[in-house]
Amino acid sequence: MRPLEEDLQAARAFHGHLCHGMVMGVRMARYACRELGIDDPHSYRDLVVYVEMDRCATDAVSVATGVTLGRRRLKWVDYGKLAATFVDLATGRAIRLAPCPEVPHAGNDTDPLEFWNDWADEELFSVTPVTMVIPEEDRPGRPIRTVICARCGEQVQDAREVVANGETLCRGCAHGAYYQV
Ligand SMILES: [Zn+2]
Ligand SMILES: [Zn+2]
Repeated sequence: MRPLEEDLQAARAFHGHLCHGMVMGVRMARYACRELGIDDPHSYRDLVVYVEMDRCATDAVSVATGVTLGRRRLKWVDYGKLAATFVDLATGRAIRLAPCPEVPHAGNDTDPLEFWNDWADEELFSVTPVTMVIPEEDRPGRPIRTVICARCGEQVQDAREVVANGETLCRGCAHGAYYQV
């Protein structure tokens, strides 16, 4: 595993600053990889991570592990929590990490690097073995199918289509889109 300092530098370069969320995210990701026995996550192809927020720590997890949204190995679950589940597809093992209840809220006037220095990984995060069933259409690899939406004519990949009244539609056309034209 590359040194912590290297991960922190890479996180700062990617995210633009080194805040508490970044330090926590890097520490969480490294701890999870160690627990799963993944020595070099950057060259390991079977790690999938479900992050529970879209904030600083998410970038940190991505940088420290090499998982990205575009490779389908970073999944975002919108819980608004600094927590993540790390799944090893090769072994089927999955663990969820979250800050321990006694971990304090760090103020903005504290130095992120110094503040967490005295905390061991075991004191910072709980590690819970969990069961994860990742549907085939959510896994890395080639799309299992591509269909055309009967209303907008756009392609829909990865079994995200909706069949309603015999029509095959994209989610936007079926349920209303997140944008208005
Ligand atoms: Zn930040
Ligand atoms: Zn459509």
